[in-house]
Amino acid sequence: MKILIILSLFFALDAFAIDHFEGLHKKITKVIKGSNSLKKFTLGKNDEGSDLYGYVYDSQGSGEKVNHLVVAAHHGNEILSADLAYEFIKSLATKKNSFKGSRIYIIPVLNKSGYNKKEREEVAAGVSHDPNRDYPDPCVNKKDFKLKSTSLLARFVEEKKIVGAITIHGYYGSLTYPWGIYTDNYRSLDHDIFELKAQKAVSYNSYTTGTHADILYPAGGAFEDWAYFEHGVWSLLVELENNPNLDDDVKMLYSSIESFPNTRSRDHRHLGNCSQFKDLGISRP
Ligand SMILES: [Zn+2]
Repeated sequence: MKILIILSLFFALDAFAIDHFEGLHKKITKVIKGSNSLKKFTLGKNDEGSDLYGYVYDSQGSGEKVNHLVVAAHHGNEILSADLAYEFIKSLATKKNSFKGSRIYIIPVLNKSGYNKKEREEVAAGVSHDPNRDYPDPCVNKKDFKLKSTSLLARFVEEKKIVGAITIHGYYGSLTYPWGIYTDNYRSLDHDIFELKAQKAVSYNSYTTGTHADILYPAGGAFEDWAYFEHGVWSLLVELENNPNLDDDVKMLYSSIESFPNTRSRDHRHLGNCSQFKDLGISRP
């Protein structure tokens, strides 16, 4: 009995001792040490009261910069998405690039508690929520921003006047763009522009391209659609493949960001009819 108690105590302590989030950020801190272009920032405190970190890459030179965003691990169990963010930061710290005139904000893990537990959802006040169903949606009426992490990110997009955004998920092997909402027409007014950018970017990894809804599933309250319909942000969603080649995926990120225009989309209205099919149970990876 004594042994059992000691063993269970040991495992409980061990579970508390593992903070994958802090481990990842320690690794990133090491990688950016000595870089003049990369700095850590704090997005704010999540529902656990702990800080969410990001990194900003500021290209050399003065003058006004265009701000872009890369966000991984909305879903805490998609561990490789954070690994790709790490590899991207590492390459920014160590290799030359052509991001002149750009500022790139990278948030490797948005859902910290989920990431530490390898769980998709994030908990607020004892209730689990899917962070990527927590944003306002033109076709679904629901309570938005139940999580602090998502509301912090939304405010950040507004404050920093983000022009292009890439979110990283897993695992399907695709690069997709709006619409992913419940509509009878998945083509946005920028459909052809999005498709061209996506096709060019996947020349490195041969991922599938198309709208979120066509390639994956429609969903209500996803960041990628919110950023586009609310602000005209050029918003792309990466679904890493199962065994991704992260070097190739970093190249895809570079190509995507290089392809973003200097200004937001001018006409990002949703002109379709919201579909009656609103099965919120179906979830995109
Ligand atoms: Zn996901």
